[in-house]
Amino acid sequence: MANPLYDTLFGQHAGRDTVFLHLPDGSTLTHDAFLRMTARFAHQIVRSGLQPGDRLAVQIAKSPRALAVYAACAQTGVIFLPLNTAYTPAEVAYFLENSGARLFLCDGNDAEALAPVSGKAGTRQETLNADGSGSFADLSAGHPESFDTVARDHDDLAAFLYTSGTTGRSKGAMLTQGNLLSNAQVLTDYWRFSADDVLLHALPIFHTHGLFVATNICLASGAQMMFYPAFDAETVVRDMPRATVMMGVPTFYTRLLDRDDFTAEVAGNMRLFISGSAPLLAETHREFEARTGHRILERYGMTETNMNTSNPYDGDRRAGTVGYPLPGVELRVCDEAGNELPQGEIGTIEVRGPNVFKGYWQMPEKTAEELRDNGFFITGDLGFVDADGYVTIVGRGKDLIISGGYNIYPKEIELVLDEAQGVLESAVIGVPHPDFGETPVGVLARRPGQEPDTDAIMASLHDALARFKHPRKLVVVDSLPRNTMGKVQKNVLRDAYQGLFTQG
Ligand code: ATP
Ligand code: MG
Repeated sequence: MANPLYDTLFGQHAGRDTVFLHLPDGSTLTHDAFLRMTARFAHQIVRSGLQPGDRLAVQIAKSPRALAVYAACAQTGVIFLPLNTAYTPAEVAYFLENSGARLFLCDGNDAEALAPVSGKAGTRQETLNADGSGSFADLSAGHPESFDTVARDHDDLAAFLYTSGTTGRSKGAMLTQGNLLSNAQVLTDYWRFSADDVLLHALPIFHTHGLFVATNICLASGAQMMFYPAFDAETVVRDMPRATVMMGVPTFYTRLLDRDDFTAEVAGNMRLFISGSAPLLAETHREFEARTGHRILERYGMTETNMNTSNPYDGDRRAGTVGYPLPGVELRVCDEAGNELPQGEIGTIEVRGPNVFKGYWQMPEKTAEELRDNGFFITGDLGFVDADGYVTIVGRGKDLIISGGYNIYPKEIELVLDEAQGVLESAVIGVPHPDFGETPVGVLARRPGQEPDTDAIMASLHDALARFKHPRKLVVVDSLPRNTMGKVQKNVLRDAYQGLFTQG
């Protein structure tokens, strides 16, 4: 094939007047109209002087035109680099400079604030506005609505996707056409996507979940997307009877469950609910099934590898697990030296397969640390595989607490705290301690209108957990800090409580 990514996901729909997107204003966009916009953008990318392999960064609101920029990058062989729309100009500066982007597309409203940043990075800045205007869009208006797709290979880079920055500075993961395609095709089969599906798409498209998982599967299968600027539970409840699948982060599900009008009838047309990007609470899993009769399917992935595992479509979807390694993905649990551990033991999860990225852009040491010579990627997540082959994630290696020489897995304590009276959810972090090096502290988010009794909770831990695992302190807060993907920011909590035992 001349350009595997473009041809398989986009080009196959050329000339089809089938619906691709349902938009918030009630209108629809066909595959053909989308591809005509893509072709105009592709001409404009070439006119802007970009060559295959150059980087194009984009920070515009979720929209058909943002997706068309992705498609046009695939068609021209340019590397697509989507940026979180919440990033400030100071943050954008890092990504433009780090990636060496040749072209940066932003909204006209942000252009003035971003111009100094683009200027400093030596990146050409153009605007692409919500109403379709802007220097990039205007110039592309005169172009033909077809474009000769640039030849590319499976191994050619298709995107730089920066990690969420949950554990440190975001890293630019270099993803090839083959990386993106392998997952799109495997997941289409695994989750049984077809042109009859309508996906509720309320995720951002600057992250692997909404872009490379959700969007690529819909393109590969011909499924339609109900395309929302952001997740709004009321709108989703209203539209769900016309959809068949939802992909979400755990907070989508808890927000749906908060609504009395979210009922089994509302979910009656749905065939599948998928959750990922952060751990789904067992309680959410239970409540969701009790309310709707659907068992949420939890899966596990990351920027560097797209998807690694999924609970089965037909078999038992087990709460608290992330299911089996996907077809083609090898998963093993290792000690730090890379020795595989016996089944059932907790260690670092490593994965290998066509989904695994090529390395971090301009971070050769980091790449060498995390990508083994034998092709296994050291995910940094801790977990184990049970006797039935299901994978459970117990947390991130960076969140492991080493207290007085003991390894403490925060997840084990969180599972107990989550069940306590008045507690909505919890996060356990390691805090510096003069005697133990580190000691666990439990941060409890209260249920609305309730007050957890921390003394009673402390006392109740004696039955559930060995003494060395007991948090030295429980702190009650209104809510846990989360990033835009719904991930709990333990680094924020660690910063907030780091002086608890060592200062004053
Ligand atoms: P950074 O690498 O910059 O610190 P990040 O790891 O949060 O950020 P992402 O690639 O967006 O960036 O997130 C991947 C991580 O999300 C995984 O390594 C894992 O820790 C977590 N994750 C994803 N899905 C699940 C899941 N179903 N259960 C538990 N954790 C999950
Ligand atoms: Mg990560």
